[in-house]
Amino acid sequence: MHNRGNNTPVPPPNGLYDDDLLVADLIAENGREWNDASLALHLREEDRASIKSIPLIDNNGPDTLYWRLTPTGRYSVKSAYWLGVLGNHYVNSTIDENVWRGIWRMNGPPKLRHFLWRACTNTLAVGAEMHRRHIQESSLCKRCNSSVETSKHALFMCGNAKKIWAKYVFWDDIKDRIDDNFSTTFARLMEVKDA
Ligand SMILES: [Zn+2]
Repeated sequence: MHNRGNNTPVPPPNGLYDDDLLVADLIAENGREWNDASLALHLREEDRASIKSIPLIDNNGPDTLYWRLTPTGRYSVKSAYWLGVLGNHYVNSTIDENVWRGIWRMNGPPKLRHFLWRACTNTLAVGAEMHRRHIQESSLCKRCNSSVETSKHALFMCGNAKKIWAKYVFWDDIKDRIDDNFSTTFARLMEVKDA
């Protein structure tokens, strides 16, 4: 559509330029069809054609606000906080719904959830990721210098990590569930926890 630098379209030669023109002004009173007279008054032929090709919804119900970052569609301060902390990762990630809920419901400080989120979306600053992004020359783990530092290695397999895990009785329950993909690991660990 043509316009004059703002969002008001150019009127036809004998038409009316209206700075305050609203889409509602171009719709018939019944709300179900375009108002031909109004279109002819305010818009040029080519603009009229493209507007008339847009179907109007046959529904006069009121508009409702929907906040897509909560399951209920209702805004919450918590979800806005996460939007601020995680930005586009939060909105665009393709992370599994159950994994996301698991992180969301976890007790503990926000930084823990942030950490888990980053692990699940492969955005932890581990050697493999840093190397892939050309930030670091080597992808090797700086602690043991013997393996590529993936999140699996850093969190479960590296010597120090293993020592810490070995102190917990539930290590036997989870050690066989650890996957290269942390998101998968996390989903499996939630199953153990819920069992
Ligand atoms: Zn290591």
